[in-house]
Amino acid sequence: MQSATTDQIKRRVREYLSRYTKITKVELEGPFVVVYAENPREVLDVPDAITNAAKTLKKKIIVLASKPLKDESSAVEFIRKLIPPKAEIIDIKFVHETSEVYIVAKRTGYVVGKGGSNILEILKETGWRPIIIRAPTIKSAFLDTFYNILISGSSDRKKIMRKLSFRIYRQPIGANRGLFVTFLGAAREVGRSAILVNTNESTVLLDAGVSVGGKNPFPRFDLPIFRLDELDAVVVTHAHLDHSGVLPLLFKYGYRGPVYLTKPTRDLIMLLLYDYINLSQKMGIIPFFSWRDVVNLMNHMIVLDYGETVDISPDIKLTLYNAGHILGSSLAHLNIESARHNILYTGDFRFRDTKLLDKAARKFPRVETLIMECTYCGERDVLPSLKEAEESLFSIIRETTERGGKVLIPALAVGRAQEVMLSLVDGFRRNELPDVPVYLDGMIYDSTAIHSAYPDFLSSYVRNRVFKEDRDPFTDPHFNFVSTPDERPDVTTGGPAIIIAPSGMLTGGPSVDYLRLMVSDERNSIVLVSYQAEGTLGRRLKEGIEEIRIINEDGELTKMPVKAKVHVVEGFSAHADKVQLLTYLMSVEPKPHRVFLVHGEESKIRSFIPLAHKSIQGIRISAPHIGETFKLA
Ligand SMILES: [Zn+2]
Ligand SMILES: [Zn+2]
Repeated sequence: MQSATTDQIKRRVREYLSRYTKITKVELEGPFVVVYAENPREVLDVPDAITNAAKTLKKKIIVLASKPLKDESSAVEFIRKLIPPKAEIIDIKFVHETSEVYIVAKRTGYVVGKGGSNILEILKETGWRPIIIRAPTIKSAFLDTFYNILISGSSDRKKIMRKLSFRIYRQPIGANRGLFVTFLGAAREVGRSAILVNTNESTVLLDAGVSVGGKNPFPRFDLPIFRLDELDAVVVTHAHLDHSGVLPLLFKYGYRGPVYLTKPTRDLIMLLLYDYINLSQKMGIIPFFSWRDVVNLMNHMIVLDYGETVDISPDIKLTLYNAGHILGSSLAHLNIESARHNILYTGDFRFRDTKLLDKAARKFPRVETLIMECTYCGERDVLPSLKEAEESLFSIIRETTERGGKVLIPALAVGRAQEVMLSLVDGFRRNELPDVPVYLDGMIYDSTAIHSAYPDFLSSYVRNRVFKEDRDPFTDPHFNFVSTPDERPDVTTGGPAIIIAPSGMLTGGPSVDYLRLMVSDERNSIVLVSYQAEGTLGRRLKEGIEEIRIINEDGELTKMPVKAKVHVVEGFSAHADKVQLLTYLMSVEPKPHRVFLVHGEESKIRSFIPLAHKSIQGIRISAPHIGETFKLA
């Protein structure tokens, strides 16, 4: 049982590191220990001093200077001299209250240096703490604004993080209540993911999603077991709104605790929420929450790298692992010390490599309970390989352009669009595609910019392109971004082209506009690459309707014949299919004792359970109902 309070941790760290240098102050910022040294060089130059301290004290330790050792202009001069010009530094910004220096560069690897050597050198020599931001290769007004808000809020965040540490490292009460999970959403359904974990000491929420277009948009926060004032932490597996959309609402109603996620997930969530507020305003709808709630949320976010373990409450340690679903997506691993129990929650995941992402992690120190998503666990959910998917997409594109038509690919702005983009780049390179422009519309632009800022979180395939060949596939010359809706008619009346636009299910957004402009020309093709939910226009097209009802440019509902060819190409899915799910159950190490299946339609989960039982014997498998609570220990 971990029982150290903030004071005890501070004392231990001070005792441990005082042998090397004069320590002026030790602070806790969220789960991290920040040590202020008069001369940080004295401790940072001792090999392994910090690593050993971190290991002994089981905490991440950050060493900073008590006060800056150089003024701003001499610090800039030092940084410019140290960092090779290849890094292409774009901006250097200082935050006095926190003694941080933000360095924005095109090639951050050169800024960081071998094993972080340059970062250490900047800190040791100037006393400023360097924070490195990779400039996206695609210029994004959203990211510029977001990074400015992030930098200007860094002093507020520091204060918030100090407050949060008292809650994380409070004195345990030593209760013996047991360990429980309650499924507040995404049980026998897809959407509004939210799982409550109650332990002897604490309460944690895994995901806080909405049900987009669903009958019941929010998780069951009305149940008595859910107490907002008792919530210690929220862990968000990835940015899709069915896992993150309700976060600002928690803050609107008074939650002021931490939200753990990866850096790309943070950026993508901010983009999606910003877009939601903008869209609501444009349509004259009052959004569920305000921008103030979103900024409040941002200031409580604690970003983690894959594999980094932190204390999130007196008895829970959290580690995030790659989930292979979308950029920044994570599997959440909770080590509950008071119950000697480990929970692995997959969020959404994929268990095969794609061009964009490596497949989900499968090895963990311990796992007793596995909570696994099941979107594609139905009898017929066996997806073709990526190669087959590419071949059929490419042949549709070839045939369409040969007859002088254009191809519309409705796709989710985060994930699917970028997967398809990478496949197209390869198709052009291998001469398997005609040399036609690709138009990208709507939020795909900013979302792709965020992808280009985080190659470290992408597949080894992309990383090799970016780091070894210095070639970012997202900036391929075939890609053209459509910046305003006025440009759409020109795109659809010009020569052969490929258009990728959200939403993927044609429930709104630019893809519907393109459909209206393209659907009655028999030379065109509509290629559905996403999941098409019941009741959506995408689903009706997939089922072969001959006429659609659509709002025209004058705002009137009109009927239009479907003359364009409608194709379905599966295999670009971001989820594990039935085969991958079964393989994952068999290959997770160590073998769990108990499995919960979530995030799937009821009928599919029912057909999957007997298969799962056959593949992994001796394991209890449950499909929870909404609101159901299970005692795990
Ligand atoms: Zn997802
Ligand atoms: Zn999901």
